[in-house]
Amino acid sequence: MLRFEHVSKRYPDGTMAVDDLDLEVAAGELVTLVGPSGCGKTTTMRMVNRLEEPTEGRVLLDGRDVADQDPVTLRRRIGYVIQQVGLFPHKTVLDNTATVLTLLGRRRSEARRRAAELLDLVGLDPAVFGGRYPDQLSGGQRQRVGVARALAADPPVLLMDEPFGAVDPVVRERLQSEFLRLQAEVRKTVLFVTHDIEEAVRLGDRIAVYGQGRIEQFDSPAAVLGAP
Ligand code: ADP
Ligand code: ADP
Repeated sequence: MLRFEHVSKRYPDGTMAVDDLDLEVAAGELVTLVGPSGCGKTTTMRMVNRLEEPTEGRVLLDGRDVADQDPVTLRRRIGYVIQQVGLFPHKTVLDNTATVLTLLGRRRSEARRRAAELLDLVGLDPAVFGGRYPDQLSGGQRQRVGVARALAADPPVLLMDEPFGAVDPVVRERLQSEFLRLQAEVRKTVLFVTHDIEEAVRLGDRIAVYGQGRIEQFDSPAAVLGAP
């Protein structure tokens, strides 16, 4: 479904962020990328939705090189959630989510109906939270809205870059559990970046352990935990 073939990324200043990466993610699989800061996880992810271009190699989505695809069309098939999701401050939670759908051409009433379903799916009661503005939410709740919005276009692929990294540990654990439950339901193909090995092991079907620009181990949670 998602495949990196000998992918390297050297930034213009000479930094070799990703070095000859090979990685294959099956449809419906959740792969976590874990490793210390600066080892190339985010760069790997951003080459999927073409926020970065590889200097060598190819990234294939369903067998097609993403470089041959129009970025706007491509990004409709790829949900993206970052550490601090940017919500429209002057739109309600419901409208933040519904806007994605109206941009895709859905009728406003239909978009709002679907947005309410999505909020429900991520654990935010639309009757309680739908009418709130982003600054009336906790950090964890904002991240949930980010996930709802990323799911709005029903993309087959989700890219998550430290989505729960900025919330406190108790909330993070809850978001992790809820995300696992959600994923069991929606079965997206997910790349999930974290620097937290516990999070990586808890969430990943398989875990890619990064060293400098390279994957040092790619295995099941049990195998990664069993490693010396
Ligand atoms: P991670 O997500 O694992 O923290 P990144 O992919 O963000 O790692 O970064 C990998 C390396 O590339 C780091 O050394 C970082 O400083 C460098 N880097 C990231 N973005 C740029 C950029 N736009 N220009 C130059 N170097 C960059
Ligand atoms: P969550 O686990 O849902 O992310 P937090 O533990 O971060 O929640 O926040 C605790 C509670 O405080 C939440 O249920 C939320 O409704 C409430 N809360 C936090 N910030 C605000 C705010 N600015 N306005 C209203 N309620 C808030």
